[in-house]
Order: sequence, then C-alpha cells, then structure tokens
Amino acid sequence: MSVNKHSLVIVGFGGMGSYHSKLIKDNSRLEVTGTFDLLEDRRKASVEAGYTSYSSFDQVLADPSVEVILIATPNDIHKDIAISALRAGKHVICEKPVAMNSQEFEEMIAVSKETGRTLMVNQNRRWDEDFLVIKEMHAKGTIGELFQIESRVHGANGIPGDWRHLEAHGGGMLLDWGVHLLDQLLYLIDSKISSVSSRLSFILGDEVDDGFEAYLQFENGVTATVEVGTTNFIQLPRWYVKGIEGTAIIEDWSLAGKVVTRNHDSVKVEPKPIKAGVGLTKTMAPPSEGATITEALPAPYKMSSGFYDNFADVIEGTAEPIVKNTEALRVLKLIEAIFESSRSKQAVTDFDTYESLVL
Ligand code: NAD
Repeated sequence: MSVNKHSLVIVGFGGMGSYHSKLIKDNSRLEVTGTFDLLEDRRKASVEAGYTSYSSFDQVLADPSVEVILIATPNDIHKDIAISALRAGKHVICEKPVAMNSQEFEEMIAVSKETGRTLMVNQNRRWDEDFLVIKEMHAKGTIGELFQIESRVHGANGIPGDWRHLEAHGGGMLLDWGVHLLDQLLYLIDSKISSVSSRLSFILGDEVDDGFEAYLQFENGVTATVEVGTTNFIQLPRWYVKGIEGTAIIEDWSLAGKVVTRNHDSVKVEPKPIKAGVGLTKTMAPPSEGATITEALPAPYKMSSGFYDNFADVIEGTAEPIVKNTEALRVLKLIEAIFESSRSKQAVTDFDTYESLVL
C-alpha cells in the first residue's frame, strides 16, 4: 500500500469491477488492494492482476486496513453488501443503480448517516464528454434557453450478459442505461418534474424491459424524451437539443455533431418554396442563405473534480459529493414513476412531495 492512498477493495470483480481497477491505477488518492468475487475464475484474474483475493466477504469486513469497499456486483445485492460494509466502518462506492428501488436506498442512506461513513453512487456518466458538451451549452446559453431535450442510446445487440435478463437481479434497460440518462437529465435541468409518461419495450421476450421511452415535463417548461433501445439497427443521434436561439445535435460518443443558431445579423428574407414529395412548402424549406450560423460543438464543461478524487475529498472531509445521495434517490423515484406509467398507460403527475424536498 502506498503512503497516503486510501485502501479500496472491489466486491464483484466482473466487467465493471475490473474496469474500476484499471481506472484507479492512475488515481493518486485511492489504491485497489484486493477484491472479493464468488467465482473462482474472477479470483484467479484478481491474483493475476496483482491484488489480494479475499476468500469471503466477512474476511474483507474484518480487515482493518481496508478503508473503502467498491460494490460492482449485480444490483439486487448492493443494499446488503453496502449496509454490512458501512456497519463494519468502511466507506462505500456503489455501482449504479445503487439499489433495486428507492426504499432500499433509503435504508442504505440511513445506515450511512448512523455510522458516519460515506456512501456514494458511481454515476460516472456525469463525466461523459457528450453530456458535458450539452451542460456547457446550457451554462453558456449557446443555443439560448433550452426547451426540448432528446437523449438516446441505441444498440442492436439485445440485453447483454446473464443477470441483466432477470428481474430478481435488477435486470432490464431502465435500471441499466436508464439510470445514467435520467441522472444526467436531472443533473442538467434545475426544475421540478411535473409529469412523466413512458412505454417499456419487451420485443425480445425477456421478463425485463429491453428498452424504454420516457417523456418528461418539467415545471420550467422544458420537455425531455429519454430513450434506450437494444433492437435499433439504425441509431438516432445521442443528443438532439433545442433552444430558443438554435438547435444542437451530437451524433455519438465521438462527439460528431454541430450547432446551428439564428443569425441576428442577417436581413430577414422569406425562404423560397421547395418541392417536397408531391407538394410544395415554404414552412419546411431550408432557411434562406445567411439566416443561420453553423458551428462546431463547444468544448465540454469542466467538472471541478473527477469521481474518484471527489470521493477521496469527501471521505477526508474537504468537499461535498458531486453525486449526492438525494439526487440518486430522486432518480430512483423517477424510475419508479416510469415503471408505473408504463404499467398504467397513464402519465404520472404526483411528484410533488419528494421534488419539493430536494429542489
Ligand atoms: P458482471 O456480471 O460482469 O460482474 C459481476 C461480478 O459480481 C461477477 O464476477 C460475479 O461473480 C460477482 N458477484 C456476484 N455476486 C457476488 C457476491 N455476493 N459477492 C461478490 N461477488 C459477487 O456485471 P457488471 O457488468 O460488472 O455489473 C456489475 C455492476 O456494475 C452492476 O451494478 C452494473 O449496473 C454496474 N455497471 C456500471 C457501469 C457504469 O458505467 N457505471 C457499467 C457496467 C456495469
């Protein structure tokens, strides 16, 4: 263990657990010292990567040198692992979705408060550059006040892996990708939600959703469409965002895209009618020459700190968490409303109680 680094053990050394170990290698504040996984081949992989492989979770809890436990197991066991870790005096980083529902997370938060140990959710996609470009445009007013946001991820590989197909493990795309896109949206828009309607899709015949569409309205007038699909052989853009002064598009994670804004310096000229299909239109004709300005996307918004550094600051008592538990709880409550709207085929509008507490 290096001096001044916080010792961290990863519980669940699968896809995301091993990815964390690679990222944390470059971090100056945290150090992965060990892992615990139920599977023999994952234990072997841990030893090969140079980490202690604990033979039981109790052994991790009993090791006084372990300061932090990072949970990267399937979703249904996050709560029990987190609560045991907090009670054993460890700080906790928990993968998303932090729990199966808001009630479970409330129990976890209560134990974090009672023990005085930090519990922080890895909503890592707040640091995605595509999202940070949108955040920058929002902060700088690049396209004027935002009023419509479309945030999508489209794949064509169906639901991956094993446990993600099963409800009992917290599978399905709403709890998987949905939690990221909704977290980004609520982090961006500083307004209470007034209504959500949604439709989950079950095209592949799994017991859990293989995608969903949710349509949200905020009290400040912003509307948002959030969509996750795993049966999309042609993808729609990652972001399509409209503001009073322009429109922005981000195609994908490579940040291909553009911003088109109204040119206030141009003399207003009526667009010429064009033939469209079998008809004629002026409304849908391209703007007349010079009426708009096309520019590259701005550089991404600069976050004050990375996730791991912020976590280290929080446990050292020198910063507030960037990912607050109240925010993660709000996202879980929104997810419950999305499930409810899809089940009832009605819009959910009774957001007031919790929204008033957090905003
Ligand atoms: P995975 O199946 O690849 O890995 C899970 C690992 O947990 C497996 O090795 C399994 O053996 C182990 N495990 C299961 N039960 C355990 C237990 N009781 N104790 C110890 N180990 C146990 O799954 P994954 O894709 O790595 O997902 C793990 C978590 O990470 C999920 O919560 C998922 O939502 C999250 N995740 C987050 C991101 C992100 O970008 N933030 C990306 C992928 C996954």
